[in-house]
Amino acid sequence: MSIQKISFNEQVSANLKRAAALTDYPPGLIEQIRICNSVYSIQFPLKRDDGSIEVIKAWRAEHSHHRTPVKGGIRYNEHADQDEVMALAALMTYKCAIVDVPFGGAKGAVKINPRAYSEAELERITRRYTYELIAKKFIGPGIDVPAPDYGTGAREMAWIVDTYNSMTTSELDALGCVTGKPVAQGGIRGRVEATGRGVCFGIREACSFEEDMKTRGMKTGIEGKTCVVQGFGNVGYHSSKFIQESGGVILAIAEYDGAIYNPKGLDIEAVDAHRKEHKTITTFPGATLIKNTLEALELECDILVPAALENQITMENASRIKAKIIAEAANGPVTADAAEALTARGVLIIPDMYLNAGGVTVSYFEWLKNLSHVRFGRMEKRFEERSNIQILQTLEKMTGKSIDTSMMRSIAHGPDEVDLVNSGLEDTMVEAYRQIRVIQERHEMKIDLRCAAFISALEKIAYAYELRGIFP
Ligand code: NAD
Repeated sequence: MSIQKISFNEQVSANLKRAAALTDYPPGLIEQIRICNSVYSIQFPLKRDDGSIEVIKAWRAEHSHHRTPVKGGIRYNEHADQDEVMALAALMTYKCAIVDVPFGGAKGAVKINPRAYSEAELERITRRYTYELIAKKFIGPGIDVPAPDYGTGAREMAWIVDTYNSMTTSELDALGCVTGKPVAQGGIRGRVEATGRGVCFGIREACSFEEDMKTRGMKTGIEGKTCVVQGFGNVGYHSSKFIQESGGVILAIAEYDGAIYNPKGLDIEAVDAHRKEHKTITTFPGATLIKNTLEALELECDILVPAALENQITMENASRIKAKIIAEAANGPVTADAAEALTARGVLIIPDMYLNAGGVTVSYFEWLKNLSHVRFGRMEKRFEERSNIQILQTLEKMTGKSIDTSMMRSIAHGPDEVDLVNSGLEDTMVEAYRQIRVIQERHEMKIDLRCAAFISALEKIAYAYELRGIFP
């Protein structure tokens, strides 16, 4: 069978096996780490606004229970299928391990195009899906904790937590049944932008290694690097925003209905404002429209950021990709064979299961907040502020020089929830990249980042099994 023809789930398995071959874990343990533990396949009726009945198909896959709860987003997409859900659940297991988030992996999908349903219909679908998950114990703060993914956001998470709450009235930790909620409903500040912020931290780390940049004819740092972004949803918009704030130049953005291009760079906030007003980016003034949206991926640039869906860069278009770095913000955007061909050409691929882990990292913080029933920073903010002021005032006395009030305030400032969340996210992304890079070095740089990331995940999952005495 040609590698091109294998399914998404088989591709994830193939990547795992490639890394496993470089370790000496027993084959049975590798098999346990590879397989999907359980998949719940559901069909339920939806009464549409016009009174007609439609049958909706949905899934929840729990890939690994080596740590619990399991965790992973819920996507709304008409192309979703069981194989894809299982592949994404597996990626979640490996992703959580890579960034030291103590969860197993899971994923859910509802096979609909959310644009084809009214808000009231989407609410009915989401609440019924949640009901089905509760009925089969596929959701709960200590069991399985969903989050937003493609086609879902804080609104859907709010419906989920409300349904869960109303059906489990006395559960103390009910708010922890789902993450990515609105802040007013137990969400955490910084979650909405977390994946995109993490993508930017990951790219910054990758661009900080001089030898990796030099071999590709680039200087270190994001500043001045040209980028093309595919998908302008949650991950694409926030990745673009933070890359631009770090000095990167966003040359083009590709959406499902067309791409826009400006060789001088696009103003991300202006594109976002235009999209909000006109429901499309394709009419954005001051940019050239590329009607065949996939062609945008072939533009000359330093960094290509696919942030929409899987299987966007395949053997069909890989040879025309000119980017020197591919930053996989989406899950599975580059097929295994295309990745092999691109890596052989010297393209640096920053793998999805590391790069887009910012979302699950901050989801973990949200879950911790829900279990502890207290906002991060609430106990220490004022205390730290007062201590800092005392230090600064002592400094003033010792030096005889006074510190300006606004400077005093900005230095003394105690951490807010969002400061702590962003600091934890940055530390996680930096630390995980360095661990992956050390594994590459251990293999004398003969393996790519994806393979090193899989080895990192394998080592941590195997260790978790060992601790539980399952594979002594
Ligand atoms: P989203 O629904 O907010 O945005 C997706 C965007 O892609 C939309 O604007 C959509 O119009 C666009 N799109 C659809 N088809 C396209 C095409 N053919 N070409 C170009 N654009 C297209 O979804 P999201 O949450 O941003 O997720 C995007 C990817 O990131 C998915 O692979 C998801 O699994 C992954 N991801 C998301 C998160 C998260 O926190 N949201 C975390 C980790 C990974």
